Amino acid sequence: AGPPPVTRYNLNNVTITNDPVGNRENVLVLTPMARFYQEYWDNLLKLSYPHELITLGFILPKTKEGNAATIELQKQIAKIQKHGLEKERFKSIIILRQDFDPPIPSQDESERHKMANQKARRAAMAKARNSLLFTTLGPDTSWVLWLDADIIETPPTLIQDLASHSKPLTVPNCFQRFYNAEKKAMDERPYDFNNWQDSPTAQELASKMGKDDILLEGYADMATYRALMAYMYEAGADIHTEVPLDGVGGTALLVKAEVHRDGAMFPAFPFYHLIETEGFAKMAKRLGWQATGLPNYKVYHYNE
Ligand code: GDP
Ligand code: MN
Repeated sequence: AGPPPVTRYNLNNVTITNDPVGNRENVLVLTPMARFYQEYWDNLLKLSYPHELITLGFILPKTKEGNAATIELQKQIAKIQKHGLEKERFKSIIILRQDFDPPIPSQDESERHKMANQKARRAAMAKARNSLLFTTLGPDTSWVLWLDADIIETPPTLIQDLASHSKPLTVPNCFQRFYNAEKKAMDERPYDFNNWQDSPTAQELASKMGKDDILLEGYADMATYRALMAYMYEAGADIHTEVPLDGVGGTALLVKAEVHRDGAMFPAFPFYHLIETEGFAKMAKRLGWQATGLPNYKVYHYNE
């Protein structure tokens, strides 16, 4: 036998449309995962986008927690891919282990969100996302759905709904359910403050910063007066209302694969004083791709 045949892909034939199911478009679902949550997995399995068109990609740190999460993830994958119903099975699944150490060992919500920890933590997350993206993006990928491992509740039609907007970057509004002790009832609050529209104040702050300094959102010490999508939710309003965004979070984020192919990634370095997902939105914009937020379309983050 001679050398193996060459596989040719014509990128012009990889469609990216507002009817991805009808056009049989491949979706890459990418999840950086420090912890395994059963609720995340159950929600993922409930996504109604044809699983045979979905490739899953994971990256996990080589920490004790990351090892435990990898074992649990592999167990759940085996259940579906080996023993699940045909329609439950995904096209393929890739698991990567991170080749660098996380900058801070603790993963508690309060520790994670300390301002002093942000730059190193967000830079490490950017590296993890880039490794995952560049080792999994295929010639037949139409869409990339970034979905954090602690997103535990979304509509089953998440992919179709976000794709129906046919925008380069589309972000739903990430909330968190919690027990409201005052009301003595379950309640919900905004969670992801990285989806925002820029402000003159933030621009002014940035202009006075050192070249390696970064702007952060959601910290009282650094009032940016950006318009946060988290606060744009209107009860009962159209879930498909669109707002333009300058910064995005990565909790749930649908990206046309051509945006990543164009070179838009997650800067692990200050890029216009922004890093990781917020830097990604900026880089995409510099390449001509505008981010869109859906303030009334909710997904939910786990509550530690
Ligand atoms: P937060 O919700 O903004 O506080 O951010 P998280 O800590 O939840 O991190 C975002 C996503 O990255 C989640 O899916 C985490 O499981 C995952 N994650 C957090 N730290 C690491 C890490 O060191 N390596 C990898 N590969 N994933 C991580
Ligand atoms: Mn999270």
